Amino acid sequence: MVQIKMTTHLLGANELLANKNRRLFEEKGMLVINLMSSPGAGKTTILERTIEMLSGKIRIGVIEGDLYTDQDAVRIGNKGIDVIQINTEGACHLDAGMVGKAFEQLPNSELDLLFIENVGNLVCPAEFDLGEDYRAVVLSTVEGNDKPMKYPLIFHQARAVLLNKTDLLPYTDFDLDRFREDLVRINPSAEVFEVSGRTGEGIEDWLQWLLEEVKKKQLLR
Ligand code: MG
Ligand code: ZN
Repeated sequence: MVQIKMTTHLLGANELLANKNRRLFEEKGMLVINLMSSPGAGKTTILERTIEMLSGKIRIGVIEGDLYTDQDAVRIGNKGIDVIQINTEGACHLDAGMVGKAFEQLPNSELDLLFIENVGNLVCPAEFDLGEDYRAVVLSTVEGNDKPMKYPLIFHQARAVLLNKTDLLPYTDFDLDRFREDLVRINPSAEVFEVSGRTGEGIEDWLQWLLEEVKKKQLLR
């Protein structure tokens, strides 16, 4: 009983902070994407590719959520863009308060596109609004095609779903048709991108979509 009350309270407080973040992001005309997946699906690799290929075209920043380390933030920083690390010290998701504080520390907050790489987890990150425009979920072929059915909430809310590691498809039992069918059932309007962060295959379509969404957001400003 007490636990339920606390959870409700925390989610309510999170909602206020998420709305505050959203107003700030809107003032700046910045597209914000909350990138989620299980550990090892390839969020950071996809971000590295994305940053490399969009560098010079738009201004990108990254907020990196991790349990304890800064390894991913170092990888992103090596691409020459601003990155702020959040260490959740064991908490398995980011919340809006953490993101608001991290955003204040970005050296340059005038961006076209901000990625928030969430903690690797397909469950509770789905319950925390960070003030983002869109959620994007990465699933890799080595995890199996049953993930959308097992974690429907996170896939249901996603504006974009990236199926990563398509280069490994021949070495897995991943059922691509089944995955596509399940996803249509759970979230018929999701944009689906089949990519390989490692080889770069399919990344072009994802970038095209991102650039269009960045433009739309700036027109709304
Ligand atoms: Mg990562
Ligand atoms: Zn959590």
